[in-house]
Amino acid sequence: MHKHYTGLIERYRDRLPVSANTRIISLNEGNTPMIQLQNIPRILGKDVDIYVKFEGLNPTGSFKDRGMTMAVTKAVEEGSQAIICASTGNTSAAAAAYAARAGIKAFVLIPDGKIALGKLAQTLMYNATIIQINGNFDQGMELVKKVANHAPVTIVNSINPFRLEGQKTAAFEIVDDLGFAPDYHCLPVGNAGNISAYWKGYKEYALDRVCGNRPIMCGYQAAGAAPFLAGHPIENPETIATAIRIGNPQSWDLAWAAQQESGGWFDKFTDADILVAQKMLSQYEGVFCEPASATSLAGAMQDIKSGKIPEGSKIVCTLTGNGIKDPEIAMQQCADSKPVTIDADLDAVKRAILDSL
Ligand SMILES: *Cc1c(COP(=O)(O)O)cnc(C)c1O
Repeated sequence: MHKHYTGLIERYRDRLPVSANTRIISLNEGNTPMIQLQNIPRILGKDVDIYVKFEGLNPTGSFKDRGMTMAVTKAVEEGSQAIICASTGNTSAAAAAYAARAGIKAFVLIPDGKIALGKLAQTLMYNATIIQINGNFDQGMELVKKVANHAPVTIVNSINPFRLEGQKTAAFEIVDDLGFAPDYHCLPVGNAGNISAYWKGYKEYALDRVCGNRPIMCGYQAAGAAPFLAGHPIENPETIATAIRIGNPQSWDLAWAAQQESGGWFDKFTDADILVAQKMLSQYEGVFCEPASATSLAGAMQDIKSGKIPEGSKIVCTLTGNGIKDPEIAMQQCADSKPVTIDADLDAVKRAILDSL
């Protein structure tokens, strides 16, 4: 029988903290495609199955929608009239959209000048109140934690446990889609909520025997924002991958547990490595993700090349956000391939085609 898809809470309601009476705030998030890479494994010259979970196809263009549908649903259930978050951009877009859907207010604290243009535009359109701070995400996060004690607002950062509950459904979808859990799961790590949520999801499914194995979790950071490699929070994180420009991850212990329990590892990559991976995904696979997201593939490619991830492996890389969110980086990436401008006549078009064949 045909069933209209109405979002991840409905789909996985048995595994989520909702009741029959809960009013669900959803934009039909989740159910994102798993795209098997066809050309990049060939370029690497390795026999591996790499799937990308393209979370950029969520309603606001990032995986944050998974957590936000749960967090806002619970905030509304508890009678909250306003939500607040600190954000590098995607959390603010998601919070703003779900608040609009619910008919409540959203306040977002963002680092002045450090969020991608598309994310700012979205957040404005969804009509959130944007508070720009002369500081970074970590400072915004500390302020949000403090102000929530003084004002009637619900925090919807991933320290809100309902965020991780929603986000764990991505692991369910992967297992339900493939019929098994991958051998390796690679993802970018910023505030470290997502790696923690995936691990929670895989553990739940393995415990209930929905899958036989649990993946090895590989968390990849930007070199200038790599507290998990330093072993402690860092003061001034810096990277073009603004979504992971975080020095003091809030899910510190949970992420270490995911790494240790799964037998996985953390690693870090330069901005140049991240941009190469982003361009490769677009150019060779037709998948346009934002820079932070490509960190997962940068890591997978390195570890496949070195043999740390052996041939024969099945690998999932989460592509956390959509490339369209950050048009400025994309234009910089393509600075050498500017469009040609010609006269509007047939000969000129013919010549332009023949010149570049
Ligand atoms: C939030 C975000 C991340 C980082 O996820 P964490 O849960 O903070 O580790 C990575 N990529 C994108 C695009 C994001 O929006």
